[in-house]
Amino acid sequence: MKIGFIGLGNMGGPMAANLIAAGHDVTGFDVAGVSVEGASQASSAAAAATGAEVVITMLPNGAILRSVAEEIIPAMTPGAVLLDCSTVDVESARAVAEAAQAAGLGALDAPVSGGIGGAAGGTLTFMVGGSAEAFAIAGPLFDIMGQKAVHCGPSGNGQAAKICNNMILGVTMIATCEAFALADKLGLSREAMFDVVSTSSGYSWSMNAYCPAPGVGPQSPADNDYKPGFAAELMLKDLGLSQQAAEAADADTPMGARALELYRSFVEEEDGRGRDFSAMLPRFEGRGRG
Ligand code: NAD
Repeated sequence: MKIGFIGLGNMGGPMAANLIAAGHDVTGFDVAGVSVEGASQASSAAAAATGAEVVITMLPNGAILRSVAEEIIPAMTPGAVLLDCSTVDVESARAVAEAAQAAGLGALDAPVSGGIGGAAGGTLTFMVGGSAEAFAIAGPLFDIMGQKAVHCGPSGNGQAAKICNNMILGVTMIATCEAFALADKLGLSREAMFDVVSTSSGYSWSMNAYCPAPGVGPQSPADNDYKPGFAAELMLKDLGLSQQAAEAADADTPMGARALELYRSFVEEEDGRGRDFSAMLPRFEGRGRG
């Protein structure tokens, strides 16, 4: 397939490399001038999109996606698919899809989970919103870049699934960390805490697969001095998107709102920036109730 790839950062770079390794013809563009081995380098986003059957975007946020979409949609061939894999607000995803469809293009919002490791290993999970026709065209590309693609419904639903999942993740990580810190103060060993909770009703992905306590449970960023992993500022971004969506939809999300506040102070006022999101545990460890 002839593919345009716009945004070749931590995620986009390895995703594009996997498509090239599978034999696709990739033309890339990134404002920072980064390139990927084996891709043709375009001089603009519009040039990368011209003549492509699928244009993939992997960009930092909704405002950037909207401005890139405005530039590439007129350059794309009718019938081609605009496949956005960035994590953005539901509103921007729906607006971009509407503009693409009005120009005779297919459009998919397909945010991912799996992080940089999943991007490099081709094991991402895609949560996809958009038409069944566009989903079928992009299917072979999801198979290369990932291990699973779930069609969640019409445009915007991929982003909706992503932010709901990550709201649960943020809340359960905080709950897991505060419970570990309480257990410390009650004289319970971390190993005992893990052994009980990971096999009891308090279990979760945060406890069982990504335990925030160093030396306990499976290998996780806690065992590597909380180097990300999934950085606290990315969790902050996703919690912000979930609260933006909750406000627009008039949904009551008190735990999501509190998780956003805690990650905001952690990243903006404490030492959370650049650390894994599970470094909430050392944050709670050092605090009392005051
Ligand atoms: P990144 O900052 O490493 O990459 C984004 C790239 O987009 C950069 O190289 C930047 O130069 C480029 N860019 C910015 N504006 C552009 C423009 N106008 N035209 C062309 N290129 C432009 O970020 P990332 O970690 O690759 O994340 C990309 C997206 O994936 C984000 O939406 C993020 O939330 C999401 N995501 C990231 C992770 C992760 O673990 N890093 C996990 C899941 C989802």
